[in-house]
Amino acid sequence: MTAQPAEALRARVSGSVITPGSPDYDEARKVYNFMIDRRPAAIVQCTSATDVAAVVRQAAETGLELAVRGGAHSVPGFGTADGALVADLSGLNTVTVDPDARTARAGGGVTWAGFNEATAAHGLATTGGVVSTTGIGGLTLGGGIGYLARGYGLSCDNLISAQVVTADGQIVTASESEHPDLFWALRGGGGNFGVVTEFTFRLHPVSDIYGGPMFFELSDGPALFAYFNEFIKTAPREWGGFPAFQIAPPLPFVPEDRVGEPFVALVSCFTGSAEEAEKILQGFRDVATPVAEHVGTMPYAALNGAFDALVPRGLQHYWKAEFAGELTAEAIKLHMEHGPRVPTVNSTVHFYPINGAVHDVAPDATAFGHRDASFAIVIAGMWPDPAENEANTKWVKDYDAAIAPHSMGGMYVNFASADDQSKVAANYGANYERLREVKRRYDPSNLFHLNQNIQP
Ligand SMILES: Cc1cc2nc3c(=O)[nH]c(=O)nc-3n(C[C@H](O)[C@H](O)[C@H](O)COP(=O)(O)OP(=O)(O)OC[C@H]3O[C@@H](n4cnc5c(N)ncnc54)[C@H](O)[C@@H]3O)c2cc1C
Repeated sequence: MTAQPAEALRARVSGSVITPGSPDYDEARKVYNFMIDRRPAAIVQCTSATDVAAVVRQAAETGLELAVRGGAHSVPGFGTADGALVADLSGLNTVTVDPDARTARAGGGVTWAGFNEATAAHGLATTGGVVSTTGIGGLTLGGGIGYLARGYGLSCDNLISAQVVTADGQIVTASESEHPDLFWALRGGGGNFGVVTEFTFRLHPVSDIYGGPMFFELSDGPALFAYFNEFIKTAPREWGGFPAFQIAPPLPFVPEDRVGEPFVALVSCFTGSAEEAEKILQGFRDVATPVAEHVGTMPYAALNGAFDALVPRGLQHYWKAEFAGELTAEAIKLHMEHGPRVPTVNSTVHFYPINGAVHDVAPDATAFGHRDASFAIVIAGMWPDPAENEANTKWVKDYDAAIAPHSMGGMYVNFASADDQSKVAANYGANYERLREVKRRYDPSNLFHLNQNIQP
C-alpha cells in the first residue's frame, strides 16, 4: 500500500495501521500457522466496531482483498493474504459477564482463554474449543466443537446475538428477531457474511470438571474404538471428550521409557460428580489397562488450557477432516493403520462425538452442515520443522484418502484446508443453497471470500 491510501486509512480508524515500512510489520503479519507467510498491504489493529466498518468500507472502495482475523488460528491462514487489508480483531478482547442472566458479551477477537477466565469467575462456561489460544470468532462461526458440546450444544448453538459489520459497512445486530437470516447463516456458515465485532453467548453452570488424558497401548486400539463407538451413543451428556492418536509427551505421569511413543489416548471432561466420572472411566479401563493417565478434578478452564503447550504458535500446519457416522470395524482398521504413524508430538488425530445436545437442534435450524454425523474426525498435522512439510503433509493426505470412503462426504469447515474449497458444498451439507441465498443478500460481491467460501 502506498503512503497515500495508508494515510487515508489512518485518518479513518483509531487503531494502528501497520504497513510494510512499519517496524512491527513482520510480527503483525504472522499468523498461528507459520507455513503461511504472507505480506498484506496493511494490518489494521481495530479497536472498535467503527474501526472494523472503516476497514470494510476501505476494502470495498479500493478493491483490496479483505482478510479478517480473530484468534489467527485458521490453518489455511484465512486471516491474512498478500496485498490484502487485514482487519485484526485481537484488540476487541473484552468479555462482560452477566451472572444473573447467565450471558457473556465478548469482543470478536477474544480467545477461549480470555473467555473462560471471565466466565469461570462466576462458575459459568459455554462450549468452546479444546485449545484455549483459539479465537472464539472463527471457531463459533464455523460451529464450535468442544468438551461441552454433548451437554450444551455447539458454540454457535449458544449464540444469542451478534453485532456484525456487513459488507456495506453497516453495523447491525443479528439475532432470532433481528436479521434472522443473517443470524441463521452466522451459526455455521463461517466468516462469509460479515465481521462479528461482539458475540453474546448463553452460559451454563460449569466450574470444576473431572477429566484429563489416558494413554493406552496401540494394540488395544481396535477394542477401545469399538467400545467408544457404542459407549458414546448413550453416554451421559455430562461426559465430553474424544479418543485420539497421540505421541506421549514428556510429562511426569508418563513412564520415562514410553515418552515419544504413539498411543491411543482418551481425553475426558465430565461435568457431573467424580464418582460417576470414575465409573465411566472404569468402563474404558475394563476394556484395556492404561499405560499412563492423569485424570482428576480440575477447573474446566484448566482442562481447556491443558494441551496448549503441545501446539504453540509457530508450527507448520496441514489438516484434513471427515464427518463420519459409525466407527465401523473396517474404518477402525484403517485408522489403526494410519493413526499410529502420527509424525510428531504436536500432531494428533481427534474423534469428536457429534451427538447429545448437538442433535437436539434441528439440522436446518442453524447453518452448521452436518448434525446428522456421529463423529467429526480431524487429522491435524502439526510440526516445527519446515523441512518435514512434504512428508508430514503426505501423512495427512494419505490418511484422509484412506478413510474418506467411510465418511459422510463432508468435513467440518473449521478443520478444512485451503485445498478443500472444491468440497465446500458437501461441507455445508443440506444448508448450502440457503447459505448462498443469504450470501447473495448480505455479501453479493463476495467481499468476505477468504474463508471456506460460499459463492453468492
Ligand atoms: C490448535 C487448534 C485447535 C483447535 N481446536 C478446535 C476445537 O477444539 N474445536 C473447534 O471447533 N475448532 C477447533 N479448531 C479450529 C478452529 O475452529 C478454526 O481454526 C477457527 O478458524 C479459529 O478461529 P480464530 O478466530 O482463531 O481464527 P482466525 O484465523 O482469526 O479466523 C479464521 C477465519 O474465521 C473468520 N473469523 C474469525 N473471527 C471472525 C469474526 N469475529 N467475525 C467474522 N469472521 C471471523 C474469518 O473468515 C477468518 O479468516 C482449532 C484450531 C487450532 C489451530
